[in-house]
Amino acid sequence: MQSPWKHHFCSLNKSQTHYLDSAATAQVPQVVVKAISQYLSNGSGNPGRGAYSQSESATLVIKECRKKIADFIHCNSEQVIFTKGTTESINLVANSFAKTLTPNDSILVTQLEHHANLLPWQRLCQQTGAKLNILPIKMNGELDLRDYQKSLNDNCKLVAFSHYSNVIGLTNDLTQIIKTAREVGVLTLVDGAQAISHVAVNMKKYDCDFYTFSGHKIYASGGSGILYAKKPNHLLPLLLGGGIVKRVESDNYSLLDGFQKLEAGSSNMVALTGLSNAIDFIQSIGIVEIAEYEKALTKELYQAINHLQNYTIISHPKSSSIVSFYHKNIHCHDIASILAQSGISVRAGHHCSQPCLTALGVKHCLRASVGLYNDSDDIEALIKNLVSVEKMF
Ligand code: PMP
Repeated sequence: MQSPWKHHFCSLNKSQTHYLDSAATAQVPQVVVKAISQYLSNGSGNPGRGAYSQSESATLVIKECRKKIADFIHCNSEQVIFTKGTTESINLVANSFAKTLTPNDSILVTQLEHHANLLPWQRLCQQTGAKLNILPIKMNGELDLRDYQKSLNDNCKLVAFSHYSNVIGLTNDLTQIIKTAREVGVLTLVDGAQAISHVAVNMKKYDCDFYTFSGHKIYASGGSGILYAKKPNHLLPLLLGGGIVKRVESDNYSLLDGFQKLEAGSSNMVALTGLSNAIDFIQSIGIVEIAEYEKALTKELYQAINHLQNYTIISHPKSSSIVSFYHKNIHCHDIASILAQSGISVRAGHHCSQPCLTALGVKHCLRASVGLYNDSDDIEALIKNLVSVEKMF
């Protein structure tokens, strides 16, 4: 297979570059690079802070970006909150529960979670005395939902889970998980960091309370994140400062409403310009077309690794962008370093998902993940080098 979109990425048009780590961060297309450069060349302004043209155009960038995100995930602009990334979004939501959660309550997460969707809930429960329940996974990485209802009935206030695991590569059945929680009045937070570039995400269809993702996983530069909140006014700001107040006196303040009270400080204009243009880029191709291409390529990748002796795959056979695996004798960091010498970028380690790997009986593994720019050449280079690595040990 040959990617029809690779030519958009200058960073990949060098010889011997096989970037197979888009699950960590995606490369940025030239249209996004140009848009950022143009924004800066036209002159920087602080949005909402001035009557002059640079400030007004920054205000417009933010307004347009919010609208584009809202259209992309099917919600209202007022439900879109800008953050630094998925990690900050989840911390923001967890922090909002700190005042109301009691020792009689519980929070539910799953064994699949990235540490970004685990540590904030661990701390919240440590601070409030609430219980943290963990939904287990089966040996094939699928969620084991047998005790789901029971955990929800344990005075659960919120269930936080990933849309698409960064190790297993499986899309969870959001609709069912959310519907079951909603029936017993439990709020839901979905970590969409991995799903957003591979799945057509739709807030109207899912009906979750919170959904979050990061710009750098969907072909924007780093520094931007999105938190969708069904009712943003129910959240408390993580940070206090400029741009979020109605009135401030020397000993008190009153906050604006909705998303406006949640975005204190000057916005990251470079990141938001990038995000806005990355959304245009994805929309110009179509998320469904991207997903279909990546799924077929991932199947090829899965089968090729599966054919290798001595390597064991731990990701799901139905994964649509990720293949996680390990060698029976050689440490994954050694393999990743040797692959890097041939221009092959894969991730090695625990992937910030230690409880997930522990559940699968593995300490660390390699992960190859595809983006819309990868093609069969990348897979061939990876396989050739995975075989030759063995000869070095
Ligand atoms: N959740 C998942 C599933 C992820 O893969 C990641 C990034 N690896 C995060 C959360 C955290 O995203 P960020 O570092 O952009 O905040």
